[in-house]
Amino acid sequence: MEHTVTTLNRPDQDFDIRLRPSRFSDFTGQEKIKERLELFVEAAKARGDVLDHALLSGPPGLGKTTLAYIIADSMESNIKCTSGPVIDKPGDLAGLLTSLERGDVLFIDEIHRMQKTVEEYLYSAMEDFVIDIVIDQGPNARSVRLNIEPFTLIGATTRSGLLSAPMRSRFGLLNRLDYYDAETLKKIVERSARILNVDIEPDGALEIARRSRGTPRIANNLLRRSRDYAQVKADNIITEDVASRALALLDIDDSGLDEMDKRILQTMIEKFGGGPVGISSMAVSVGEEPGTIEEVYEPYLIQEGFLQRTPQGRVVLPRGFGLFGLKPGNTQQE
Ligand code: ATP
Repeated sequence: MEHTVTTLNRPDQDFDIRLRPSRFSDFTGQEKIKERLELFVEAAKARGDVLDHALLSGPPGLGKTTLAYIIADSMESNIKCTSGPVIDKPGDLAGLLTSLERGDVLFIDEIHRMQKTVEEYLYSAMEDFVIDIVIDQGPNARSVRLNIEPFTLIGATTRSGLLSAPMRSRFGLLNRLDYYDAETLKKIVERSARILNVDIEPDGALEIARRSRGTPRIANNLLRRSRDYAQVKADNIITEDVASRALALLDIDDSGLDEMDKRILQTMIEKFGGGPVGISSMAVSVGEEPGTIEEVYEPYLIQEGFLQRTPQGRVVLPRGFGLFGLKPGNTQQE
């Protein structure tokens, strides 16, 4: 059985909801984004306005859905949630839009996967709060304009590069979430441990944080697995050693990288001597889309000092070589 950190980043509704912060003050990290959103929420509320449309982008599990709920809650608004691929006809979207009340938040996850025809429908709704629907067919077909209540669209995407320019330009607030550093994740683990009533030492929380690939959802799932381990094998307390043994049992290695991260680095070393490598050659070699590498994998590898972007291409750094027991310039295993 192969466990990688990626398998621990699958949404688990009940668990995610239980640990989801419900106020800006409980949401740890992403300080700039939080500060900006809080300010706009406060200003819109003071004016009695509806909040501008907001786009939240970034890799999975970093808190986009959580922030959408916090924004709606702070605006004292209702939130309706859907996802890009689920809305397959303009009629579905019209149904959703006409059911909104003034100031409601419509959250569309994976907004980059929305069909073109549906997306175009959204433009006038976002801009002028009207939709044109076509009724009847053939020679009797005619377009009817419907007013909808002013609302806030919050779009979430893991691939902002795939969003069309007209769609992107209709968002007033653009926010890119970054991976969390270990100290911030440690605080998230400690908060989750309090909610779950789990005994954890600071070093135990840090050990989990270090191996969570900068991602709160992974950190929470590793906490849950470490709790099980501590319950059976270690008096219910998660110490550094207990966390380390629990994660070793799950095959989560010390770097916290997932399979694709390692494949990218290994391919660059084996096929290109560590680089520089152009993004397209790298993508072909690992069998992934260039955009996904750029937006989902690379940012973490760069942040953690495994990889660097240079004008000539991507280059593996000594830490990346070290992962495989190698050094730059010497790609034979010692
Ligand atoms: P996806 O793209 O997969 O839908 P997401 O970015 O929407 O992911 P969320 O569902 O918001 O991620 O967060 C995943 C889990 O991580 C939730 O349980 C949430 O409680 C927790 N979490 C995310 N960000 C934070 C944070 N800053 N502080 C505390 N917990 C967080």
